[in-house]
Amino acid sequence: MTAAGARTVLTATAGQILELVRSGEVSTRRELQEQTGLSRSTLTQRLAMLTAAGYLSEAAAMHSGVAGRPAKALSFVDSDKYVLTADLGATHARLALQDAAGAILAESTGRIRIQDGPDPVLSAVLDGFSALLASAGDGAARERLCGIGIGVPGPVNVATRRLQQPPIMPGWDDYPVTTVFEDRFGVPTLVDNDANLMGLGEARRYHPDVPSLLYVKVGTGIGAGLIIDGRPERGIAGGAGDIGHIRIAHPVAGALCACGANGCLAAHASGGALVRQLADRGIAVETAADVARLVQAGNADAIALVRTAGQLLGEVLATAVALLNPGVLVIGGSMALTHEHFLIGVRESLYERTVPLATRDLTITASALQDRAAIEGARIMVVDHVFSAEAVDAHLGS
Ligand SMILES: [Zn+2]
Repeated sequence: MTAAGARTVLTATAGQILELVRSGEVSTRRELQEQTGLSRSTLTQRLAMLTAAGYLSEAAAMHSGVAGRPAKALSFVDSDKYVLTADLGATHARLALQDAAGAILAESTGRIRIQDGPDPVLSAVLDGFSALLASAGDGAARERLCGIGIGVPGPVNVATRRLQQPPIMPGWDDYPVTTVFEDRFGVPTLVDNDANLMGLGEARRYHPDVPSLLYVKVGTGIGAGLIIDGRPERGIAGGAGDIGHIRIAHPVAGALCACGANGCLAAHASGGALVRQLADRGIAVETAADVARLVQAGNADAIALVRTAGQLLGEVLATAVALLNPGVLVIGGSMALTHEHFLIGVRESLYERTVPLATRDLTITASALQDRAAIEGARIMVVDHVFSAEAVDAHLGS
């Protein structure tokens, strides 16, 4: 299939052509021909297949090609393909119906208790998804649905698509979460750790040119997602980034973690830990978001505790930054809403504990996507899977 003089070894199936267009690497026939080395007639035939199947469109002449002839712009048709996404936290769920480009068509939030186990939580999500499809208003939402993406606050083995011994999710270990959705909606369903998805969303939307991004979610618990070249690095069993249970250097006696151990970072620096620390000082708050609101309101106790929590996280992240030398460190979850106080603490101890080379070009920033980071990452995960070269070629039978 490869034409003589091809500049790459790509044999360029129709699915691979779509992937080149979708990634933004090529946008015209001329570029495709240069990139793939396919003959003009073969390329025309593959593009016709993709167009007929509704994957690709070729817009009217927008600018002149090199030879002075008008060049039509190729683009992935993403506005008529829908994805359902869910971000399940310890106490909170966000559900969304998005198109494949990321526009949110309908959205809902509600309280859940992840510790109640999969049956009540997933049945609430199934109902919520049905309501979102019904509310989309175009009547065709169900037919347009091409995949579902779920974020969960625990480690996921992507090979088995199941949770692996999640510390704060009793009853979820090895539960077939994706099967529940595939049985109901009949579309491919993917599940991943929420911090991985949040990092994926931030990386692909806001830092597409950064090869290495570390995202840390500090909400009720603490988790991290490492995104290398636009993909989550999950480790061999999905355990990568589960930093909340790293033991800190000087733990406070009696600070028992939800995992049952003493001295975990999460038991000292998470939103949940701050709720307990404030309660010890006679300040009653219930959630990590309440802590953030107290800080925003200028409560001196809350500000001091949040800054110390940031320093403790910075201690642990110093090791991660020394190992990985990432370009961007994104802090997300409720603590990112404490203005700069939490980030100041992180910077203080991180800079103190790393050599300048590791942090010289490091950008430390609060999450830009905030509480929509996980659903955005879930949407990207699904689109990458459903419109991968392999999936598209299988669908086209090519
Ligand atoms: Zn722990």
